[in-house]
Amino acid sequence: MISAHNLGFPRIGGARELKWALERYWRGEIPSAVLQTTASELRSRHWRLQADAGLDNVPVGDFSLYDQVLDHSLMFGVVPSRFGAAGDMPTLDTYFAMARGMAAKPDVGFASEMTKWFDTNYHYLVPEFEPELQFNLHADALLQQVGEAQAMGLSAKPVVIGPLTYLWLGKVKRQACAKLDLLPDLVRVYARLFAQLKQAGVEWVQVDEPILALDLSAEWRQAFESAYTQLATQRPKLLLTTYFGDLREHLRLACHLPVDGLHLDLCRAPQQLLPAMDWLPSHKVLSLGVVDGRNIWRGDLTGLLDTLDPVAQQLGDRLWLAPSCSLLHVPIDCSAEHTIDSAIRGGLAFAVQKLEEVGLLKRALAEGHAAVEHELRAAEHAIAMRLAHPARLRPVVRERVAGVNDAMARRNTGYAQRRQVQRARLQLPLFPTTTIGSFPQTAEIRSARRNYKHGELPLAGYEDAMRQHIADTIRRQEALQLDVLVHGEAERTDMVEYFGEQLDGFVFTQQGWVQSYGSRCVKPPIIHGDVARPRAMTVEWARYAQSLTDRPVKGMLTGPVTILQWSFVRDDQPRSDTCQQIALALRDEVSDLERAGIAIIQIDEPALREGLPLRTSDWPAYLRWAVRCFRIASAGVDDATQIHTHMCYAEFNDIIDAIAQLDADVITIETARSDMELLEAFSGFAYPNEIGPGVYDIHSPAIPETGRMEGLMRKAAQSIPAERLWVNPDCGLKTRAWGEVEPALRNMVAAARRLRETAVN
Ligand code: GLN
Ligand code: ZN
Repeated sequence: MISAHNLGFPRIGGARELKWALERYWRGEIPSAVLQTTASELRSRHWRLQADAGLDNVPVGDFSLYDQVLDHSLMFGVVPSRFGAAGDMPTLDTYFAMARGMAAKPDVGFASEMTKWFDTNYHYLVPEFEPELQFNLHADALLQQVGEAQAMGLSAKPVVIGPLTYLWLGKVKRQACAKLDLLPDLVRVYARLFAQLKQAGVEWVQVDEPILALDLSAEWRQAFESAYTQLATQRPKLLLTTYFGDLREHLRLACHLPVDGLHLDLCRAPQQLLPAMDWLPSHKVLSLGVVDGRNIWRGDLTGLLDTLDPVAQQLGDRLWLAPSCSLLHVPIDCSAEHTIDSAIRGGLAFAVQKLEEVGLLKRALAEGHAAVEHELRAAEHAIAMRLAHPARLRPVVRERVAGVNDAMARRNTGYAQRRQVQRARLQLPLFPTTTIGSFPQTAEIRSARRNYKHGELPLAGYEDAMRQHIADTIRRQEALQLDVLVHGEAERTDMVEYFGEQLDGFVFTQQGWVQSYGSRCVKPPIIHGDVARPRAMTVEWARYAQSLTDRPVKGMLTGPVTILQWSFVRDDQPRSDTCQQIALALRDEVSDLERAGIAIIQIDEPALREGLPLRTSDWPAYLRWAVRCFRIASAGVDDATQIHTHMCYAEFNDIIDAIAQLDADVITIETARSDMELLEAFSGFAYPNEIGPGVYDIHSPAIPETGRMEGLMRKAAQSIPAERLWVNPDCGLKTRAWGEVEPALRNMVAAARRLRETAVN
């Protein structure tokens, strides 16, 4: 019999129960026992649901109170010394301190670094490997959950991050050892873990090694062999699990490691199927990830069955079916969505529906297609309805895309010439000061937005309130004597949603939450059709803000790549095509802003870097279309209009070329935390345009000192000519309070003034 299983289920809960419980626990409103009860209720509800979908076993250990990588760090005793003595049994409070920092001792108790999980929008906590680290096993939490599932009469399949991937994700701290030096010790702990799981009656363990979809050196490939060879006995069966990409040159290695099965992501990389069937030894299970865990559309089950029928014939009960990856990256249940056009909604599949798809495929293969004829026809019909939706193909958009030419992606002249014209127009001092766009989103702003949304505040009243906030923000910036002002983004909840709501081709869910980190969730828009801009989106606010001051006010847009990256996208055309449509819509917005007299337009691309493919050999193709889309959006302006862009991350070295090719007149970037180190990349490469290296970290409530910011800028001026430097914070200020923002910016402006006084021009 063919088996069906799941790699992981979203844990936050359909009503975000886990989020609310966590936040109440952190505020001290509920004891840990109540939090734990919520957690175990969610687990059992989700297991029941998965079993009811027809799965043969349920994933255990995919649930986490904060982050599954952090859970592994606790399980292996990888607790940084600032959170307690080595060998101490970590407590729930240690766990949350590692995740969120220790409020009582902010200087020592800073949280572990958080970073993106492969190419997803999920953030994990980076394991810290300190000197003299001793891996230790504390598997009680996992074993307890195995027991919970077994007590429900289910077959529990623990989900464990594999030793190589766990090591890869971590960082060696304050010592000169290579990560792989730690492997032998770590493998010993895994051996004990597997032995304990076997003792607990576990038949299969899912061992996630997604790094097999990355570029790996010979050393790491070798380490796979040695680690799994050492783990070959005294354990349950292991399902080596990969996802997010094609294993390519590692596929043969993965087929031959001494484990009992292999899971492949056939959504991202269907071409793996045939070689895997050739190479996989005949005693091993092949688990095929055929239902897309990274997108929200129903799958083409009939088409899949054509592929799977002969595979099932050949493999028999060695074939397992599953989603491509953990369902952590999709929302829970689309039957809760009532506001989306029914033709589009019918084409959606969230976690619950995806498991139904897996269950259905299994039945079709086991009992024959006829047994599920009705369900298959219904699925085909739903897909056909979605694809027939008139919003999918808009002739006007298609014509415009077909008419895009190279000239549209190029400014009229080069930066050097534009600079002269812009200088004459803007009359800015040396070291001009500015901010990144948003100002504090106060309780009044949020309540005005909420009341408007719930129909309690009429449009006119809402707009009035927003104008007042804009006027207040402009007044405060003038008082601070900033040189280039912003309107403050009071009207925006989210930098992608705000634009998506005004563009054709997007729909929004009510409950489509996806965990981003800890208790934080995002509700990504869904791009289902051709993207077009029915009317100007930001022009009235920008015009109003500019009318209040003689200083230039920047127009503020989210870039095409970021809008694409932070949405669920349509699956019927390449991402690059969708991105180009967004770029054209933004291009129109840019020219409307220009026509309204806005002299500086900022197009934020914080997600440019995270769109990078997992394999470096795929980077150039991505960067080519991503850069082109930014340029299509931005290049339609006159020389006198200054284009800014903003990115908030520090690792630029890899993509500095592409960033220069964006040809923005000014880029503002995050550098404050890395002490301007990244500017070396910019100087080494001789970055040609202007740069505003963030002089303070907006994530910290501390008020930055004038002297420190001045010093950072002097450091920057060693690698970049002073006349090309701007002074600004490293990101938007919406999460801060005015009480922090005003003194910080006052100091920042003072730093710029000191720099001007001493600068030799
Ligand atoms: N303009 C946006 C802001 O200031 C940029 C946000 C971001 O970089 N993520 O909030
Ligand atoms: Zn930013």
